[in-house]
Amino acid sequence: MPDPFPANTVRTQSAYRGRFAPSPTGPLHMGSVVAALASFLDARKAAGTWLVRMEDLDPPREVAGAASDILRTLERLHLFWDEAVVYQSHRTQAYAEALATLETRGLLYPCRCSRLQLAGQTIYPGTCRQQPGSAERGAAIRCLTPATTFAFTDRLQSRYQQQLDIEVGDFIVLRKDQCFAYQLAVVVDDGWQAITDVVRGCDLLDSTPRQLFLQQQLALPTPRYMHIPVIINSAGQKLGKQQFARAVDTSNTSTVLWTALHYLQQAPDAQLQHEHPSVILEWAVQHWQPDKLQGSRQIREQL
Ligand code: GLU
Repeated sequence: MPDPFPANTVRTQSAYRGRFAPSPTGPLHMGSVVAALASFLDARKAAGTWLVRMEDLDPPREVAGAASDILRTLERLHLFWDEAVVYQSHRTQAYAEALATLETRGLLYPCRCSRLQLAGQTIYPGTCRQQPGSAERGAAIRCLTPATTFAFTDRLQSRYQQQLDIEVGDFIVLRKDQCFAYQLAVVVDDGWQAITDVVRGCDLLDSTPRQLFLQQQLALPTPRYMHIPVIINSAGQKLGKQQFARAVDTSNTSTVLWTALHYLQQAPDAQLQHEHPSVILEWAVQHWQPDKLQGSRQIREQL
């Protein structure tokens, strides 16, 4: 159980609601700690509420024990959340309802294209668009994209826009294996949890216009967005579980937090590294200046 009154939380609640939404595909690595810390600091600075949502909708990619491991690591880092953790695997009814809404709006169609058929295509060519019919098992479901530009002003990345039909193409909302897709689930849950501020990695910048579109279709509000730089390794790859990024060393949580603050350009004093996590976080909330990351999309990993 998280400490109900940790020292580093401000108890005057504002309307701000933020969240960290890890996928339990492995233990937390420095890239995900940086994302967790940025959303935590932003929420605490605003005297807001900070939530953790486990995005466990992808059983093939899930690693047994990773969800509880991630939560234990957040606790060890003193990144305590304010409400019960939401598990997306328990929310499938809500996603099915959202899908039904999109269906009544005539936006969905089943897609039977194989991976092989689509090899080399970055944008879905619309092959199945003209063959409507109810989805059967084994078919994916795609959402039609309009010839409309969806734009938003990111707190760090200025204005970002995409014309969805040309730059994204009809996208999957229910996969062939009947798993609900991230794009749908994240929109439903950000709406349901009344999230006002999304702080996450820049790798999701190009998902945001699709999410704006789904919010519009599902009559959900659009939160503010802040996309923080992702950490890349020496080969220029995003530090992620796919590259088997090293799990953070939970035996030295002060150093982990200090290093994450350093990646977030918060210029923590060297001696802060030796303080208790709660002291480091108190300093970090007080001094939180996300503007130091203005325009930055990548930060090179320092080993
Ligand atoms: N679950 C996603 C990830 O781990 C993050 C989704 C989000 O923050 O919108 O990359």
